[in-house]
Order: sequence, then C-alpha cells, then structure tokens
Amino acid sequence: MTTYLDHNATAPPRPEVLDAVRPMLELHWANPASSHGAGRVPAAAVDRSRQAVAAWCGGRPRDVIFTSGATEANHAVLRGVRRPGRPRWLVSAVEHPSCRQPAEALGATVVPVDGAGQVDLDWLAAHLDDSVAGVSLMAANNETGVIQPLAEAHALCARVGAWLHVDATQALGRVTAPAAWDLLTLSGHKAGALKGVGVVVGRPGVTWAAQVLGGDQERGQRAGTVNVPAVVSLGVVVALALPEVGPLRDRLQAGAEDLGLVTTAAGAPRLPNTLHLRLPGVPGETLAQALDLAGVHAATGAACASGASKPSPVLAAMGLPADEGLRLSLGWSTTTADVDAALDALALVVPRCRQAFEVGA
Ligand code: PMP
Repeated sequence: MTTYLDHNATAPPRPEVLDAVRPMLELHWANPASSHGAGRVPAAAVDRSRQAVAAWCGGRPRDVIFTSGATEANHAVLRGVRRPGRPRWLVSAVEHPSCRQPAEALGATVVPVDGAGQVDLDWLAAHLDDSVAGVSLMAANNETGVIQPLAEAHALCARVGAWLHVDATQALGRVTAPAAWDLLTLSGHKAGALKGVGVVVGRPGVTWAAQVLGGDQERGQRAGTVNVPAVVSLGVVVALALPEVGPLRDRLQAGAEDLGLVTTAAGAPRLPNTLHLRLPGVPGETLAQALDLAGVHAATGAACASGASKPSPVLAAMGLPADEGLRLSLGWSTTTADVDAALDALALVVPRCRQAFEVGA
C-alpha cells in the first residue's frame, strides 16, 4: 500500500469521470464534427461540457475554447493576444513555466512577489500603464498553494485597460472559481478529469488569435479533432462538490511542524489541499526520495519531464532556499489514513535526513 499525496501534479480520475467517459469510448466515439448521425451524441456531450465550464467560471459558453491542457492554453493567450498600441506584457515571478517561458519570449516584465509569494501590488500599480496588453497572474501556485490577490490586481489592470490573464489550473477542484479575470486558462487533470484537456475562456470582446491552425473546430480558435472523452471528463469535474481536505491538510501541517518541518507561507491565503514544507539544511529531493522509499508519493515542487527536480524559481522569488521544498498535496481521494501514513513516514525519515546532513533538531 502506498500513499499518494501529489494531487498538484495530477489527481486520480474521479469515479464520476470514469462512469461518464466509458460510454464515450465504447459507444459514442465518433467525431463530434461529423455531420452524420453518429457525431450527434459526442457533439452534444462536448456542448454540455462547454456549458458546465462556462457555468463554473462565469463565462459565456461560446467563449470557452477547449485545448490540450493549460500549457497550450497559456501559450494561446501569451502568443495569441495582440493589442495595437499595447506591446508590453507583465508576468508574475511565480507563474508556471508554461506561462513564464512564452512570456519571456515576448520580452515580458517580471512582477516580483513578497516573502509569502503574493504579487507585489504596489510594484504592479507603479508599472501598469496603457502600453500594457496584459498581466499573467495565477489563481494559486502549484508549489506553495499561495492564492494571489486577483481582485486587487484586476482592479489595477482595469484602470489602464490591461487584461488580466488568470491561470486557474490549481484552483479547479480546490476552491471556487476566480471571479476577477479577462482571460482564464485551465487544465482538467489536477482535479480528477482526464489528462489532455484544458480551456481558454475570454470575456466578451477579449480576443486572441488562434495558434493552432487547421480545421475550424472550436469556432476556428483551436483546430484539431476534439478530445471528446477528456472534454466530457472536464465537464464532470467542474460540476462536482469540492472535497473537504482542509482539516486533513491542517492535521498534516501540525504533525509535520511537530517534527521540525517549516511550513512555507503559513500565514498567507493558501489552497486547502496544499502543504509546502522545508527542513532547513536538507534538500527537498532527499526528503521526497526517502518518503518514496517509505511508500509516500510526494514532490519537491513542480514535476518536470525528467522526473528530476530543479531548484525552484518560485522559492527563489520568495527569497527562500530554492532546493529545500517538499510539497504534499491532497485531494478527493485523500483519507485520514493517508495523512497518518505520511506522518509516520516523516517521523521515520526526518531524523535520518537530519543526521545525514548534520543539521540539528
Ligand atoms: N499551470 C499550472 C499552475 C500548473 O500547475 C500546471 C501543471 N503543473 C500547468 C499550468 C500545466 O498544465 P498541463 O501540464 O496540464 O498542461
């Protein structure tokens, strides 16, 4: 038996998703763009998902464009938004690389964060003017769970007519949808939908040029045959009640702190499912590997393609040691037994890691 505490990397598919997806694979597998009768059921299912996503985020169904995930959705925004007379883009220092990297390619200006990982609103106010096309600011950070002051940032953007792009990937399935945005991007699998589906939603009048060209699926905004099972799965998870994992996370945090671990941004607003810890003087990678051997799947921060961890730019931007993060993230499948197993494993590995790195308790 192992314990999975890495929902911010991906969540196990929800049972409701499996139930909804199976008939789409077995029976209604036709192309939703087909004009013959077999395409009708999948086309209607995609439409229902579009409506469900729109209801979740408060957008219009026609403005919901399905993509292959948040990575593609963030690229669609950062590459696709072109506003005459507004060449500049601002991006927070703690954005996911799928946002930060295309922003860097644009020559975007990086917005600093404070020690708790929240964007510096005074800095933002001082650097916003009518040459700014948009600002990218995530709803909540994938590593630390820190929630950004979106309403305040949106009000600052609105004053100069800049658009606020919110990457809400880690909000889905954890907290209610953000309300303050002009462009919203999303991925489904962190909340128990299938992998390979995401969304871009723009407010009416907020436009972006299609980046994936070809057929005229998704009103020509994103070509390519629609991934019906994944889109259906996203429509399911946006409509589910949020799992009540806050008390479990708090229990895990209290137990971890008793063992000498330090909670990152403990006083800041955070996602109820995320616990980011540091054991001063011990690399997070060492702790994560030791936990893995003890049967607990945790992460150092963002999962990267090689499976190896890199120093975290998020921690660096917060002025913290960039290689000391350990992230435990909970979700709909997490039980009290999981939390207790993780605390037992931490009690085992923390003294050993301390000894190996010769750091005192
Ligand atoms: N944004 C955030 C905040 C994320 O956590 C992730 C996934 N780690 C992404 C974007 C990218 O999502 P995907 O890999 O599903 O495209």
